[in-house]
Amino acid sequence: MKSVLKWLKSREAEMTRLLGRFVRAESPSFDKAAVDRFGRIVASEWKRRGASVTLVRQAERGDHIRVEWSPRRARSNGQILVLGHLDTVYDVGTLSRMPFRLSRGRAWGPGAFDMKGGLVIALFAVDALAAAGQLPEKRVVFLWTSDEEIGSETSRALIEREARRSDAVLVLEPAAGLDGRVKTSRKGVGEIELIVTGRAAHAGLNPEDGINAIEEIALQIGRISRWNQPRRGITVNAGVIEGGTRTNVVPDRAHVLVDLRATRPGDMLVLERKFRALPAAIEGAKLEIRGGFNRPPMERKNSSVLYAKARALATELGVILGEASVGGGSDGNFTAALGVPTLDGLGAVGEGAHSSGENVVIGKLAERAALLAGLLNSAG
Ligand SMILES: [Zn+2]
Repeated sequence: MKSVLKWLKSREAEMTRLLGRFVRAESPSFDKAAVDRFGRIVASEWKRRGASVTLVRQAERGDHIRVEWSPRRARSNGQILVLGHLDTVYDVGTLSRMPFRLSRGRAWGPGAFDMKGGLVIALFAVDALAAAGQLPEKRVVFLWTSDEEIGSETSRALIEREARRSDAVLVLEPAAGLDGRVKTSRKGVGEIELIVTGRAAHAGLNPEDGINAIEEIALQIGRISRWNQPRRGITVNAGVIEGGTRTNVVPDRAHVLVDLRATRPGDMLVLERKFRALPAAIEGAKLEIRGGFNRPPMERKNSSVLYAKARALATELGVILGEASVGGGSDGNFTAALGVPTLDGLGAVGEGAHSSGENVVIGKLAERAALLAGLLNSAG
């Protein structure tokens, strides 16, 4: 492990340069052409390393990329799956405000941390193993998907199919905190839309004939916000609200988008049921509920064995590897829910995901790549 780390340390400038190339190829989830452009850069890096690369074509979203690396073809038994995503939350043009730059030991730019840094780490982990002649016994499949930031609608089935034939799943989402903790549990995540239909009327002439949809929504939000149980890991957040047309009209339509999170699968079911059973607060108002949970929780029981392995490898590198439980979901939620051992947060160390201050700690890139290299050789 130490020699792998030393080799990687000597590649730090190269890793940073590649990160710069990746960040400069902007790739917002909703822009297929941009994601595909970035995908081609990533694919060519893998082809140069002799991996077999397959594009999983998409009509609306960017193409997903499946990379298979099995350097010891004859002895391959079993599979390790590595997950990452090509897309970012930043529109094309963000670079002009937030250019890729190096300062104070960090690499800054849109998507550097979440998670182009992780994609760089994967490439160099493979390089380090090849240079050391320590080739994994198992087949390694890397799935680089295009829609993680918008719920993985087009990639979920692909991720689950690949996970079912894998012995372990390693997720290159950013680490938690500047001490680089890996993520051993994540909440389940959902979104519910509550649509209220009332009855329009003149606010001055005949308000009594109206049913105010906005008032109904407000009363409902009061109700659902009482379902929050932070200590149990349940959060309910009304995040977007819309309704009405003019101040002198009793509004007949309003809707609210609610973010839901829960640590336990049972709580997810209960929450969904409670939403569907909501009675109208104002007589005559009609409620419609759409959506629900779309990511199951990642429970610690599915991460603990891999975490112990990772911690032991980190110790060999002279690092204490902590763990974190987080509220945000990732594609690791899908694979853990299938019962496949999953360890998340193995990507870059940094700060400011999804913000203008997004950055990666350059001095940790080599260490993270060494950790991933170790796991590719020993996970599962
Ligand atoms: Zn991410």
